Amino acid sequence: MQQNMDVLIIGGGVAGLTAAIGLIDQGFKVTLIEGSDSLGGRAQSMTDRTTGERVDLGPHVMVTQYRNMLKLLENLGTEKQVVWQRRPHLILVDKPEPVVMRLRSLPAPLHFAPSMLNVPQVSWADLFSNRRVLWQLMRLDEEGILELDEINAEQHLREMGVSERALDWFWRSAAMTIMNAPLELCSAGALLRFIRYLGGRNDYQVGFAGEGLGDLFAPEAARRIRASGGQVLLDTSVAALVTEDGRELRARFCIVATPLESLLSLVPDDWPLRYETFANLDRFKPSPYICTYLWFAGKLTKEPFWTKVWSPDNLNYDFYDLSNIKPSLAGKSSVIACNCMYSLKSDLLTDEEIVSRTQAEVAEYLPAAAQMEIQHARVHRVPMGIPVPAPGTEKARPDTTTPIPGLYLAGDWINTGLPSSMESAARSGWMAAEQVLAKIGRPCALAQPLPKLTGLAWALGRKGGKQG
Ligand SMILES: Cc1cc2nc3c(=O)[nH]c(=O)nc-3n(C[C@H](O)[C@H](O)[C@H](O)COP(=O)(O)OP(=O)(O)OC[C@H]3O[C@@H](n4cnc5c(N)ncnc54)[C@H](O)[C@@H]3O)c2cc1C
Repeated sequence: MQQNMDVLIIGGGVAGLTAAIGLIDQGFKVTLIEGSDSLGGRAQSMTDRTTGERVDLGPHVMVTQYRNMLKLLENLGTEKQVVWQRRPHLILVDKPEPVVMRLRSLPAPLHFAPSMLNVPQVSWADLFSNRRVLWQLMRLDEEGILELDEINAEQHLREMGVSERALDWFWRSAAMTIMNAPLELCSAGALLRFIRYLGGRNDYQVGFAGEGLGDLFAPEAARRIRASGGQVLLDTSVAALVTEDGRELRARFCIVATPLESLLSLVPDDWPLRYETFANLDRFKPSPYICTYLWFAGKLTKEPFWTKVWSPDNLNYDFYDLSNIKPSLAGKSSVIACNCMYSLKSDLLTDEEIVSRTQAEVAEYLPAAAQMEIQHARVHRVPMGIPVPAPGTEKARPDTTTPIPGLYLAGDWINTGLPSSMESAARSGWMAAEQVLAKIGRPCALAQPLPKLTGLAWALGRKGGKQG
């Protein structure tokens, strides 16, 4: 069977669906091919057979600065289904007791400072040991980030004088929770870029999907593709740019919006040798996740989420009580969801062991959890949460355009200027649609610009670098 189409998009996650929406809004007919039996990719949702509730592959967080993701949701009419948390504090679970970090109304990055000064686990000398790296962070421009990309973050922080205690308490926790990899495996450039992104503003809120995360974008995007004369093919894995069942698909443009491993298996073996775009992709390795959901018999807390401070013994880092987030669970017993990032050392644990260790970790913050009955549990083993932002990967992230005429790339891992995330995936999708439009002589701005720093961070950044 041979089919002709305007644009072929391979991959039905946030990136592929955003590119599809960007193009059908401009009158294109799109064929989107998805290898699995459902859309949404890593941000997909499924129905739990025992409870009938929608659950995500793993708990996901958005922030108000997710302008590309929010543009997608606004386009689809689902942005009001995001539940924003207005609590200006973050709970860090540590021994002997949890630390509450309150965001103050001070210019960024000083909004964190009063809380940091009161953390009993970290001395003022440890805090002060961060001064050189914080100064560097605020003045860093894109060139500086790429210069630091080849250096491992742990080594760089030590060279900048950060104390061992500050490394363990703050930087190792930050690496695991936001970069999803141990500090010693992270690129210094990638880590500092993300900390700058988070610490450089004081006006963000954290948001969650009110129900299923994938339900925010996948069903409506698929409906729009079909309504515009295009098609969505599920359970159709593309191999070598020809479908496995032998159908030949012809398209003027092709956007590959798959994770890296799939892209590598799609392209001819000699492309990494012939084209720089595909040359350094072996630097990217997956950060696997284990996501656990526990349905407790009673209510444990009113808090929506909390985080564990780094320890070599941790299984999970971030914890969410969905009964305090999802409107349909309001007033019901606690449903705790959590993420174990870079789960390699825990992969051999059985599901029962993971459930039992997770219950014990929940009880570190909420002691009543230790004795409370767990009525139902799910353990999701995700081979790749995001690619590890290892040294050299910032430079190796390929651009949207490729040397192959008509072939474009999208996905959270390509060069978007953002850490791998739903926001990066959405931005990559808008960027791919922009490139197709530019190619046919109808340039159109779709991708939202990167967030600007505010306050002191903005002032220092202007002096030190090019960002505006
Ligand atoms: C548990 C977990 C928690 C996370 N938490 C957060 C968070 O809090 N905040 C945040 O912003 N991000 C988070 N992320 C990351 C976020 O989910 C991803 O960055 C984003 O969803 C990636 O979207 P994508 O479209 O680039 O890729 P994907 O979602 O991976 O989509 C790619 C699609 O391509 C399909 N595909 C692959 N190969 C082929 C082929 N050969 N033929 C056809 N189809 C193919 C796949 O099946 C998949 O559906 C988390 C991820 C996980 C797993």
